[in-house]
Amino acid sequence: MASVYIETFGCQMNEADSRYIAERAVAAGYEIESDPTLASVVVLNTCTVRDNAERRAYGRMAHFKALKVADPSLKLVVCGCLAEQDRDRMQTTAPYVDAVFGTSELIRLGDALAEWRSAFEDPTDEASELRALVQPLGGAADCITDSFSHLRSFVTVQRGCSYYCTFCIVPHVRGRFDHRPIGEILAEARRAVAAGTRELTLVGQTVNAYRDPAGAADFADLLEAVAALEGLERLTFLTSHPKDFTPKLAQTLARLPALNPRLHLPVQSGSNPILRRMNRKYTVEQYEEKITFFREHCPAWVVTTDLIVGFPGESEADFEATLALAQRMRFAQAFMFVYSPRRGTPAALWEQIPAEVGSERLRRLADVVNAGMRRIHDTRVGTTVRALVQGPSRKDPSKLAAKTLENITLVVPNPGIEPSRLIAQPWLEARVDGAHVWGLTGMLLGVAEHFDGPSEPVAPPTLDLIAI
Ligand code: SF4
Repeated sequence: MASVYIETFGCQMNEADSRYIAERAVAAGYEIESDPTLASVVVLNTCTVRDNAERRAYGRMAHFKALKVADPSLKLVVCGCLAEQDRDRMQTTAPYVDAVFGTSELIRLGDALAEWRSAFEDPTDEASELRALVQPLGGAADCITDSFSHLRSFVTVQRGCSYYCTFCIVPHVRGRFDHRPIGEILAEARRAVAAGTRELTLVGQTVNAYRDPAGAADFADLLEAVAALEGLERLTFLTSHPKDFTPKLAQTLARLPALNPRLHLPVQSGSNPILRRMNRKYTVEQYEEKITFFREHCPAWVVTTDLIVGFPGESEADFEATLALAQRMRFAQAFMFVYSPRRGTPAALWEQIPAEVGSERLRRLADVVNAGMRRIHDTRVGTTVRALVQGPSRKDPSKLAAKTLENITLVVPNPGIEPSRLIAQPWLEARVDGAHVWGLTGMLLGVAEHFDGPSEPVAPPTLDLIAI
């Protein structure tokens, strides 16, 4: 049987694109394979937002070359932002790659999969054996599908970004804003809900800048329309820009109970001179005012963010302003990075901060943010939460991992519930009894089919009974 393995790096946009590729592959008659050594087609969906992501993508390409040597019938496809940026370079550095598709060529990728399908018969035993000898190197990114992945769906509402932050490669590789018509978004969301999605995420690089190209609807209107879909359980969105975070949007969030109570609003820096150099189009004071207004309307929501340290020109005083902001804002989670120059962006040409200064600042910032996260997690101990299952915990498969509505990881011992039951009843009801920087631990009390439906109690793990 022909099969496709998809490996995804980077942001929610790539995640959404990989889902689209998987759908096109299945429609063309492929199976989705979780082991690249067994696949007919390997798709590497790349990211170039940081140097590390770029190096990893080239490393994975070199690794997949070994699979192609073992089985020349294998097709290796590279797509995503790195493909867009390095299309020409790849022809010389990775000539074994069969096809490269830029960020606006996903439909062509899907068409190519359909075209290639008839060329794949069941693999011969010899080819399978040879490829099985080539073990995947560590660090593989998430495979696009597993038994639980259909519980979450991503619907792209816009492509590209027109804001040109001086550190960001996105507008250069994905182009300017291209918003999808609201009718298309609603139709895709409806299909996802009908297929069993419990949590729908609207994704875009700057999702709250959305404007329906055919009408007057903005992002708040879009959220209202999606939240009203019959059968939708939970709704969330990623990623927002502070400039477009309007009072109307805050008021809309407060009114829609289907929304997960987590706002991700990247601030990037706590220093106005640095925000200006980043071309972020807001000041620290404006960001804080928006969050204050938002918290007045949505007091139960958590706020998460992105922070960059070591940006060109960042003085110790600028960095300390970021530290102070992180302390004041009580972020429930922050994705923190040392600035990494991206070819083709203005900031890459500026004088750079020494790497060791950036790393040291990151450590200091992480201490502050982690302490804040831990304090928030501590407040959840003793409560009962509902969280959407992700599957067996990667670290300990005897436990289940899930995400709360606030996107906090929850890990509980699995008292022996079969995957088929978890797929039918994916909402875990758990008592939280441990808080950590990374998330929560607890005891599973029950499982529910629907977020707001009744739960069925589950027996505690055998170990507990013995302890009693
Ligand atoms: S808003 Fe800035 S950081 Fe975000 S995608 Fe656009 S250019 Fe990049």
